Amino acid sequence: MRKQCTLLAAVFFALFSAGQLAAQSPAVVTLVKAGRLVDPRTGNVLSPAAVLIEEGKIKEVGSPSNVQAPPGAKIIDLGNATLLPGLIDSHTHLLVDPIVPAEAERSRRYNGDFVPGLLFAIVESPSKRVLMGAQLAREDLESGITTVRNLGHSGIDGDTELRDAIKAGRVPGPRILASGRKLITRGSYIQSLNPALADAILQQEFLLIDGADRAREAVRLNEFQNVDVIKVTADQNLTVTELAAVVEEAHSEHLKVAVHAVDKTSIQTAIDAGADSIEHGNQVTDEQLKQMRDKGIFFDFTPSFYGDFFTRLTEATVLMSPARRDRWAKLDVSDTQTYNSLVQHVLKSGVKFAAGSDMGWYFPGKTRGQTSVSRFPVLHLAGMPSLDVLRAITTNAAEMLGWQDRIGAIEPGKFADLVAVAGDPIADITELERVRFVMKDGQVVRNDLASH
Ligand SMILES: [Zn+2]
Repeated sequence: MRKQCTLLAAVFFALFSAGQLAAQSPAVVTLVKAGRLVDPRTGNVLSPAAVLIEEGKIKEVGSPSNVQAPPGAKIIDLGNATLLPGLIDSHTHLLVDPIVPAEAERSRRYNGDFVPGLLFAIVESPSKRVLMGAQLAREDLESGITTVRNLGHSGIDGDTELRDAIKAGRVPGPRILASGRKLITRGSYIQSLNPALADAILQQEFLLIDGADRAREAVRLNEFQNVDVIKVTADQNLTVTELAAVVEEAHSEHLKVAVHAVDKTSIQTAIDAGADSIEHGNQVTDEQLKQMRDKGIFFDFTPSFYGDFFTRLTEATVLMSPARRDRWAKLDVSDTQTYNSLVQHVLKSGVKFAAGSDMGWYFPGKTRGQTSVSRFPVLHLAGMPSLDVLRAITTNAAEMLGWQDRIGAIEPGKFADLVAVAGDPIADITELERVRFVMKDGQVVRNDLASH
């Protein structure tokens, strides 16, 4: 009895304290003022600009003379900075950061650069892995990414749990649309496993598609984990029937289907099965782009290795012969030219497009956020106008995610997810790599412009 009384007292005290905290919490109305505000959808620039925020949502946008803050509102003056909607990275992997293996290691195994690190991630402690995910999520947010779509490589529930922990305010990070386990055909990813353990290992990370029934079951298993999107890797082994079964099952639960497809055959499978977005799409043809446009399928650019990214990534960490380095440097040049041509073809086709970093690498000396945002301005180097780059990671991405009603633009009713850069991002898109102010849900994440 006495114990119960103590417990009750503790509960009352906790409730009382919570009430006090709420009463003392800062004003829920905030006015953000800045020299300029760019609307990526229209390209219009509002100068000067004011954004009124209430309860984490945007209430009003206009010139400072028209948007009045009620008494007691918190005022954040960002001086001459330029406001943009919070950035959306529509293709990332927050629960992996492998290091490319040294050349000697690489030549002895058959699984490529990514797989040794991936295998390690699977067999390591899931608790350790999700804590790393929390760090990478925070780093993305600090660089201005307020929403990500995490497309696999997260264990069974790493991304859904991280999403929920961020939502509950336990750890800082972007909004996450989580895919749960990636649907693959046998042989798509890790090979040469111990046959006695292979299935058990694979199931920690992937769901195997083997016929239409198993494809539907895979979607349902992910639904049980409460995922936001279904991710499928299409290769030459995946049939249209199997992928169509995935799409039908996912759509019946209002989930979109993002399909990794690189070669022409896989891209055609994704188009014929009615995918919602095609990830990577490197070898897409003009005829396929036309079909995608007619069906409203999004093209999601992932310029992860554009330029000399891979060379720089491996420089500091990977033991490699000068001959191999030389070969890779040459590949950097030819791959970059190929990507430039891809960007031109996609832009000309009129297909809907967005962009993601596809980041899943450890880059020495950089935070994950710095590495992720460095992949957006390279689209401009590849020939995409700055405004289209901004659209690809704001308004367009929001539409691809099906979240155009809540993110991607600075408009009344949307979440107050804002970033600011010091200069003009249209004149110099690399400003995206120097985000000075980040707000998510009306809460300031960072403000390096505070002296104004
Ligand atoms: Zn990916």
